[in-house]
Amino acid sequence: MSIPTVKLLINGEFVESKTTQWRDVVNPATQEVLARVPFATPDEINAAVAAAKEAFKTWKKTPIGTRARIFLKLQQLIRENMGELAALLTAEQGKTLPDAEGDVFRGLEVVEHAASIGNLQLGELANNVAGGVDTYTLLQPLGVCAGITPFNFPAMIPLWMFPMAIATGNTFVLKPSEQDPMVTMRLCELALQAGIPAGVLNVIHGGEDAVNAICDHKDIKAISFVGSTHVGTHVYNRASLNGKRVQCMMGAKNHAIVLPDANKEQTLNAIAGASFGAAGQRCMALPVVVLVGEAQKWLPDLVEKAKSLKVSGGTEPGTDLGPVISRNALNRIEGLIERGLSEGARLELDGRKPNVPGYEQGNFVGPTIFSGVKPGMSIYDQEIFGPVLCVVEAANLDEAIEFINANPNGNGTAIFTQSGAAARKFQEEIDVGQVGINVPVPVPVPLFSFTGSRASKLGDLGPYGKQVILFYTQTKTVTARWFDDSTAGQGVNTTISLK
Ligand code: NAD
Repeated sequence: MSIPTVKLLINGEFVESKTTQWRDVVNPATQEVLARVPFATPDEINAAVAAAKEAFKTWKKTPIGTRARIFLKLQQLIRENMGELAALLTAEQGKTLPDAEGDVFRGLEVVEHAASIGNLQLGELANNVAGGVDTYTLLQPLGVCAGITPFNFPAMIPLWMFPMAIATGNTFVLKPSEQDPMVTMRLCELALQAGIPAGVLNVIHGGEDAVNAICDHKDIKAISFVGSTHVGTHVYNRASLNGKRVQCMMGAKNHAIVLPDANKEQTLNAIAGASFGAAGQRCMALPVVVLVGEAQKWLPDLVEKAKSLKVSGGTEPGTDLGPVISRNALNRIEGLIERGLSEGARLELDGRKPNVPGYEQGNFVGPTIFSGVKPGMSIYDQEIFGPVLCVVEAANLDEAIEFINANPNGNGTAIFTQSGAAARKFQEEIDVGQVGINVPVPVPVPLFSFTGSRASKLGDLGPYGKQVILFYTQTKTVTARWFDDSTAGQGVNTTISLK
């Protein structure tokens, strides 16, 4: 049976790459090869950017209502095709079908937000800043923008990027993860069907070379990157040196504090879901939990809760966690579990090599819990990106906050408590960008911006919400005075004041 190829999207056409370099897109639950993805050639990358540059000439002048209406249509198409999108996502990424719908849905929310662009891309006006003078701002699109996305949210994260960039009047070149590009391509088909004109949205595929070409391309004005810290730092440095505006959302090691006054059942459910859901492959997962005081006694209950989770193929009903993305990822996670043991952590629950009937070839690792974890151990210092939870103990809230603030990452965190005073102290003192209070995965809805901080983020502005309007636009400040024929001459003004 011939294996389908993933197409490039250049100037409104889905085209076959002429490259000689291809990679298999593999179902992580079965190892079935679903498609082959090309590594675009330099000519193809240049053609995508050239198409975007040409399309910008007219797209930037397209009325705001026309732009908004496309995203109204796109949200409808995504809703109509939700089942197909989720199934595609599960097949190539591995997460469960309900979680795949969640992935699409969190992106859909950004599309809905892009449909309100008329309210969002407003400038400011001050009337009579001097006699007969008004000052106002224009938020103008930048030109060709680019997005580079990771494997773990192949629907949501591309939808964080191209809808807001395009709604604000830019044109776009997207480079999806080469590990699971199929659902992203389906979303791009729907975007064209919704009315995005030729050249406004383009897609190239590839890995390091394609990313470097984006960082270096003289016609790309801004880059939004989401992925690991080492690649994001490279992208930020390289593209910034080339004068581009860059935002990089990167790796994480999110901690949750559990105070003994928390609602026990709710808290343990929340932690198990956030630590092991999506097989731990969320940047907002909870791989570290800090049990404070008496809450340390909850560890056996947490282990029992984790044991009850079902590991299977993402399409099997009742599955809690599916496979991890690749054999490489599986080997790395198993290697880190081995190091956790050799570095002295206590393995409370060993999820290695689970029995998964019907999916013997899948990249599975079940919920794994270590206690007695300390900084300096590889399982604490590295982002594992698998269903491995590190349990740490603290005597009190102050000690727990200090512990979290000493970790370099600043993506997300959460506290579980019934004390308003403790929660407020936590929100004030914790040095992390996204804070949950009895909410384990506090990813903000698109009315707000994604606000990771410290080592989890480079660049000042987040990828959606109000901040992204500023990211994708250049503010121009206009100071204007109009004379009619009867206005008397005011003489020469050699000062800088307006009079
Ligand atoms: P990754 O960094 O390996 O890949 C991200 C993108 O960079 C991909 O498109 C890939 O093709 C490209 N890339 C990979 N290696 C490269 C290299 N050497 N040079 C240039 N480009 C390269 O990340 P991933 O494994 O796909 O995704 C998981 C990571 O993403 C985790 O670290 C996770 O925390 C992070 N992430 C962060 C957020 C966030 O919002 N902070 C969200 C999702 C994922």
